[in-house]
Amino acid sequence: MSVPSSDFKVIIAGGSVAGLTLANALEKAGVDYVLLEKRDIAPELGFALLILPCTTVVHDQLGVSKRYLPPAIPFSTRDHFDERGGVVSRSNEGTLIGEKKGGSGLVKSQVLLGLETCANEEVMVAFHRGRRPLIMIERSRYLCALRDSISDQSKLRAREGIVGYEEGPDGVTVTTDKGNRIQGSILVGADGVHSSIRSMLYPKIDTTKQFETTFRVLIGTSFNHDVDNKEKLLMKEGSTNHTISPGVGGLACASIPGKIFWAMYIPLEKKPLPESGRRSYSESDIEEAIAECWDVHCCAESTFGDLYRSRTATIMVPLEEGVVDLPWSSPGGRVALVGDAVHKTTATLGLGGNAAVDGVCYLTNELIPLLRRTITGQEGSRQPTSAELQQVMKAYERQQRPRAAYAMKASYYATRFETLHSWWAWAVKWVYGLLPVGFKVRVFSDFNGSAPVFDWLPHPDAPEGKKEQ
Ligand SMILES: Cc1cc2nc3c(=O)[nH]c(=O)nc-3n(C[C@H](O)[C@H](O)[C@H](O)COP(=O)(O)OP(=O)(O)OC[C@H]3O[C@@H](n4cnc5c(N)ncnc54)[C@H](O)[C@@H]3O)c2cc1C
Repeated sequence: MSVPSSDFKVIIAGGSVAGLTLANALEKAGVDYVLLEKRDIAPELGFALLILPCTTVVHDQLGVSKRYLPPAIPFSTRDHFDERGGVVSRSNEGTLIGEKKGGSGLVKSQVLLGLETCANEEVMVAFHRGRRPLIMIERSRYLCALRDSISDQSKLRAREGIVGYEEGPDGVTVTTDKGNRIQGSILVGADGVHSSIRSMLYPKIDTTKQFETTFRVLIGTSFNHDVDNKEKLLMKEGSTNHTISPGVGGLACASIPGKIFWAMYIPLEKKPLPESGRRSYSESDIEEAIAECWDVHCCAESTFGDLYRSRTATIMVPLEEGVVDLPWSSPGGRVALVGDAVHKTTATLGLGGNAAVDGVCYLTNELIPLLRRTITGQEGSRQPTSAELQQVMKAYERQQRPRAAYAMKASYYATRFETLHSWWAWAVKWVYGLLPVGFKVRVFSDFNGSAPVFDWLPHPDAPEGKKEQ
């Protein structure tokens, strides 16, 4: 059931994972909004994103995932190598996740995957049925799917950033870099780790200090063949490999036909943050970094040097980590922050964007019922008060904060393990191959199994009769 159109309007700052997911959700709920993105929407940056089944469930609810699922190859194996291409651990985690199981098979893999702690049974069942495998696709393809699923494209305003806002008892007014002033009922800052809405919310605090940066990441997309021999694959299609080596961790995924997405995690020690005013490192910084890691293997046969030679794009950025420990919304309840603006993980486990989608679920699971209660006239047709909105924002934060902290901590340890950054990582490396597969996928299965869905939309796996709410 939609919220009938009313004067309630959401202003969204940022048109990426969090902002576009929120825009789709609001459109589905029939809530008015405008999204302002200071750059282009869905630019081609050469990044890829790992998408967990729980995120695909939510995007199924919005009708988005069918646009991005093909041509992804579901994850099959997840192997770990050392820098010389020696096997540290081999596992078929991806296959287990994607396998069709039922009856005792389901129970068996539940134990194997450590899913006995799952909170969301429906998601778990879908997960095991293999309907929604783990995938990794181009970030731009994912964002295009989110953008193109929106029917009223006039609500999306690219190349117009928010430079200021004023919050009052009845609403919020934003000023854009084009000099426009836009009025709304609430403002949601989905504007990333360098969030300007967060800085405006806390003008006297340097909120960038809420995040630590210990690593940088060199990311690339490459053709999955040797530059000198197009017949020779660099990696088996569908495979996902991690490299554990001193001073550089690696990830390489042959997860779409003909392409490999890869990343190398490098401690900052040797290289400070990019020159001031830059968010990413220069081309010469990239060449210096890859020269040092050229011979590090991404699998038994190929090295990151081979991947670099067959590259189509590379970029190197700092990897911030942290969960903002200031309130995520204004005292007036009309400005809130979601996604990387309030929680940022290293990229090693690929949880950040998935966590951003969860935040949108929790926020709308509080907001939409409030709007239905107040605007549909169950309590007389009226606008929600600031106090009610404040409660919405607090409830969202209460649910999302521990989840974000979990994603951040898990990623923290994964990055330090793969770069052998601490003494314990060396110890774990020696026993890693002996650990049960259930332990190795535990982070993914716990995070996936306890994820929220949109409570106010039918679950895509609900029996036919139950679909209408
Ligand atoms: C190398 C790397 C690999 C990653 N891999 C994965 C992965 O595999 N899986 C995964 O789930 N996550 C991954 N992540 C994390 C993921 O990219 C982020 O968590 C996700 O993009 C966060 O989405 P967001 O919408 O909160 O912020 P962002 O994606 O940062 O988007 C913020 C947007 O706001 C815009 N903006 C900023 N200021 C303003 C303003 N004032 N007005 C209007 N617009 C503004 C920006 O231009 C930007 O488009 C990775 C991150 C990195 C760096």
